[in-house]
Amino acid sequence: MSAPPPRLDIADLSRSYGGRKVVDGVSLSIAAGQVTCLLGPSGCGKSTTLRMVAGVEPQDTGSIRVDGRPIADATTRLPPEDRSIGLMFQDFALFPHLTVGDNVAFGLRGEKKAARRARARELLARVHLERHIDAYPHALSGGEQQRVALARAIAPRPRIMLMDEPFSGLDNRLRDGIRDETLSILKEEGTAVLLVTHEPEEAMRMADEIALMRDGRIIQKGAPYNIYNAPADKAAAAFFSDVNVIRGRVEGALTETAFGRFLAPGVPDGTEVEIVIRPQHLRIDFDRHGKGPVPTPEDGTPARAVVTRSRFIGKESLVEFRLDYDGSAMTASVPSVFLPKAGTALWLMMRRGRCFVFPKTM
Ligand code: ATP
Repeated sequence: MSAPPPRLDIADLSRSYGGRKVVDGVSLSIAAGQVTCLLGPSGCGKSTTLRMVAGVEPQDTGSIRVDGRPIADATTRLPPEDRSIGLMFQDFALFPHLTVGDNVAFGLRGEKKAARRARARELLARVHLERHIDAYPHALSGGEQQRVALARAIAPRPRIMLMDEPFSGLDNRLRDGIRDETLSILKEEGTAVLLVTHEPEEAMRMADEIALMRDGRIIQKGAPYNIYNAPADKAAAAFFSDVNVIRGRVEGALTETAFGRFLAPGVPDGTEVEIVIRPQHLRIDFDRHGKGPVPTPEDGTPARAVVTRSRFIGKESLVEFRLDYDGSAMTASVPSVFLPKAGTALWLMMRRGRCFVFPKTM
């Protein structure tokens, strides 16, 4: 038996405004029960992509299929209400004249009254609002109204759920719980979820797959772990955390740095490269302090550096340094309270396996 087609299949979707391509050849497949996060900076085309899938915005080129059936291509364009797609946006609107229960049951017309009420009750229980089933929306806080809107979007069991920053209005205390609960409901029901966010942490937490978007294009797709640990370029690395960048030039497939030589296989001689490392992967070499640099295979050569500033930011300390080698600035994050005074000299180690070497970009 052949595998079923992806629940949502987007191929080569593009859209221009005033001659500028804001979505440029986007392709994505999402299986039933899978969550894909479209992640990228403001203005990169995430919402436009979502609006085309929803059917509220026409595409210039490309096609969209649900369970193998075209809903939008060169010859087909189903209206939004015929796409079996649920929508959850940041600025939701509940019907003020309907009770909370009737708001949630709104999309279930055609079902028996008792079944609609039971489904509304079930979903309200899952967003912890069952006791408000007969209240009107104005009696609820903003965060509670948003949870009702989530329940309303999920109620008709859409095959696809499109979400545009749907949790951003919730306060921190509630957000994690509601987010996890919403996802587990959608997964249980086999809904394919396309979620737009500009917050890497949210994407890492929620996604089975992240599609990293920049200037209208998907520049990298993969599981959160892979995107974080094998970024496509410097900007992709820097999107997830602060990064340190060490510059060098390749000679004989090697580049010389304060931390010893780095391999740059396949990079032509004379190419400028950037070695990127996250602050948590720089180590302060306490053992060797005062004894001088002793290279190790894993961490390379320690580099002497002078502290310029140190701050405690809750779970960790951020210690800023200037390297003796070339005066460049670096930041290390230390998972404890570690606040050396400015002017203190220390040895830094760089975890080789955690470095990324890229040809230099602007
Ligand atoms: P954000 O996270 O800020 O919502 P986004 O990645 O979702 O950003 P889009 O809303 O898709 O980005 O917008 C992409 C680009 O297209 C932006 O530069 C925006 O100004 C432009 N744009 C979006 N809609 C229109 C429109 N209807 N007419 C003209 N330009 C538009």
